[in-house]
Amino acid sequence: MISIEDFAIFAKKKAFVYPSTEIYGGMAGFFDYGPLGVELKNNIKNNWWHSFVKNREDTVGIDGSIISSQKVWEASGHMNSFFDMLSECEKCKKNHRADHLIEDSLKLSVEGLESDALDKIIVDNKLKCPNCEGNLNKIKKFNLMFPVSLGADEKTGQKAFLRGETAQLIFVAYKSVVDTARVKIPFGIAQIGKAFRNEISPRNFLFRTREFGQMEIEYFVHPEEKKCSLLDKSHLDLEFLFFSKENQEKNKEQTKVKLKDIIKNKILGEWHAYWLAESYLWYVNLGIRSENLRIREHTSDELSFYSTGTFDIDYNFPFGWKEIYGNANRGQYDLTQHQKHSGKSMEIFDEETRTRFIPRVIEPSFGVDRAFLSFLYDAYSTRKDEKGKEVVVLKLHPKIAPMQIAVFPLVNKLQDKARVVFSEIKSCFTTTYDKSGSIGRRYARADEQGIPYCITIDFDSLEDHSVTIRERDSAKQHRVKISELKNELFKLIN
Ligand code: AMP
Repeated sequence: MISIEDFAIFAKKKAFVYPSTEIYGGMAGFFDYGPLGVELKNNIKNNWWHSFVKNREDTVGIDGSIISSQKVWEASGHMNSFFDMLSECEKCKKNHRADHLIEDSLKLSVEGLESDALDKIIVDNKLKCPNCEGNLNKIKKFNLMFPVSLGADEKTGQKAFLRGETAQLIFVAYKSVVDTARVKIPFGIAQIGKAFRNEISPRNFLFRTREFGQMEIEYFVHPEEKKCSLLDKSHLDLEFLFFSKENQEKNKEQTKVKLKDIIKNKILGEWHAYWLAESYLWYVNLGIRSENLRIREHTSDELSFYSTGTFDIDYNFPFGWKEIYGNANRGQYDLTQHQKHSGKSMEIFDEETRTRFIPRVIEPSFGVDRAFLSFLYDAYSTRKDEKGKEVVVLKLHPKIAPMQIAVFPLVNKLQDKARVVFSEIKSCFTTTYDKSGSIGRRYARADEQGIPYCITIDFDSLEDHSVTIRERDSAKQHRVKISELKNELFKLIN
């Protein structure tokens, strides 16, 4: 398995992701997406929007503002509870995230432990600063929200923050959506956008950054509605690796389970189970191998302040199984808080039952950059070329690959014919044209960029009006009439 450091080098070399503002020395926790990266990222986001908003009758979208008043974050609880534990070195003054420091030194998971407990572990195990071996100060709590000042006068201006999660903007817009968009319970409000957290130690390339994308749905359900009408056989029979709270607490392994069994055992409610399954299937249907995914239940210690039950989807990275998606049962917490702080009613009136209620909320939350990282990582493979040299093949699903098709004239003389083929298909597929280098070199370049199908125009094409389609993953080739090319490619890609 390629290390995350080497993977970051590969991603930069192949125009996927660059460290941000590199010419000025860069800044930890910020990245720029390059020409191939932006295509892959847009395809991931567009696919998500299609799957969870456009293709559904029960979900609508919003695009909320990135900066919002302190009042929002007071109501949400982020001002008081959105902290990481900071452990500062007495000598070199370097700040460390206490849980990461302990995890790295003792290989011990301490998620969710309070500062006193972490201090005790540091003292008991005589842990020192990994940078200079200096002593560590008592742990301080560090708020992750980024403050911004609005207007010219900092003293009288309104206090505001970059959003720490996209979710709150959905809760804040909820009343306007309910009043104007003809939604009917149960329904979802979805959003894709940036979130910002002043992480103490951004690390592992795109995995932990200070600016990142989220794709989130807040799904509103009647508080008494326990049955989920949307659960079907495809969800219930879904089998996956599952790491239960119980197994984690008893130091046991993860096991393979079916969704219907964990519903039957009352580990998960039906609505929560439905959204976990839908989300898991989204990753798998776009190419992630299920052996590299697992669902992990949060232990009681690590639950966020707003959640009564959380299940993550983890990806098997070279630095361990790590969360790429979180699904919290937020209950009525956020809407109740905003009702209290804003003085505006968050109740819905149900015509059928003639009752008023505050809905409860299930929150599927996908990280854009972590999805990007896991799709790219899972697609990364190598094979030997004819000369025995190891070459990279990015086996990205055709629906998210930055380019779907590459068109090659075998030699420059065939450019006229190749250009005709290129113009014909580029309106239907994202297509690139490449005439430089030997045909083998061009195939290798396309493999590294994750292009699933290459089309080669050769001398026979002038006579038989056919072209060769070369498939990336198997390197197999077959011949197709130009008149049937579009149909054939549609079939292959879909
Ligand atoms: P959370 O609100 O912490 O449950 O985060 C929801 C999702 O956002 C996670 O599952 C990640 O995919 C993503 N995420 C959270 N923090 C970061 C970060 N610092 N860098 C990149 N992605 C993040």
